[in-house]
Amino acid sequence: MAENVVKIENLVKRYGELIALDHLDLEIKAGEVFGLLGPNGSGKTTTINCLLSLLSYDKGSIEIFGKKMSPTAYDIKKDIGIIMQNVAVFEELTVQENIDYFCGLYITDKAKRKQYVDEAISFAGLEDFRKFFPKKLSGGLLRRLNIACGIAHKPRLIILDEPTVAVDPQSRNKILEGIEELNRNGATIIYTSHYMEEVEQICTRIAIMDKGRKIAEGTKEELKTMIKNTETITVALHELPEKVLDEISALSHIYSADYTDGTLTACCSGGRHNLIRILEILQKNDLHIGKVTTAQPTLNDVFLEITGKALRDKED
Ligand code: ADP
Ligand code: MG
Repeated sequence: MAENVVKIENLVKRYGELIALDHLDLEIKAGEVFGLLGPNGSGKTTTINCLLSLLSYDKGSIEIFGKKMSPTAYDIKKDIGIIMQNVAVFEELTVQENIDYFCGLYITDKAKRKQYVDEAISFAGLEDFRKFFPKKLSGGLLRRLNIACGIAHKPRLIILDEPTVAVDPQSRNKILEGIEELNRNGATIIYTSHYMEEVEQICTRIAIMDKGRKIAEGTKEELKTMIKNTETITVALHELPEKVLDEISALSHIYSADYTDGTLTACCSGGRHNLIRILEILQKNDLHIGKVTTAQPTLNDVFLEITGKALRDKED
């Protein structure tokens, strides 16, 4: 069993009346890409800030690398790389100077530092922008600079708080691939996001948060077996008489069927021939069948089934 890199026990954080973290337990092992997935306001950033001793908390304990974390635990802090939700770089310094500054906080040997800065620049794909000032960079490049500053000193634990929000698809892919590369090179990763697709793509284990609580935890496969949904089928139809919908609803393995805006949506639990049986009923009733889709459950379905609401708003 790999060693614990992070151990959070019974953590409670209040902002006045609001309980931002409600008895949170988390264990993260060496080598994991650990995802903290939850909607805005669920407590992800508060967890990170407590973990780093940037925030005091009301109750609980936090260990990193097997040692108690505290504001003065510099031996722990030097092995952590932090990429904050809000980009934090110096406007007065160029790309290269920014990375050199942050790296220099940890690495004093000049030759080694130069090598580390060069590696961070090529890691983030910023070779063509070395001499640029931050205000000349696009949102995606600025994020990549933020990441380069956080990882240049080669920390063992890297924490990224929503690093892909408002980032163009190209930079987003670069960032996700970069995180996997850092992990392959030995770093343990904590990755927070409200984008379930990203968490599914890169995380080896995931904790789903809602209102300061951990509501589920496991690999993506484990999380999906926690819910009854195994398949969601949709069929576009010009019309669907009530009695045909009732007939579909009555099929075994189908626990909900609904017809809105010209689309039949059937949620299935188990069973191997759900789609065929639905299509047979539609055909028997002489209905014109349009586009058909079938989808495996997503982490959004997990969140929906546990909390009764979607992981994020449609406009997100
Ligand atoms: P997330 O990062 O998942 O979006 P946060 O950890 O930022 O969530 O916030 C968790 C909850 O705590 C939210 O309800 C938020 O409004 C509240 N909160 C966060 N920071 C503060 C603060 N400094 N003062 C008061 N409430 C806060
Ligand atoms: Mg946040």
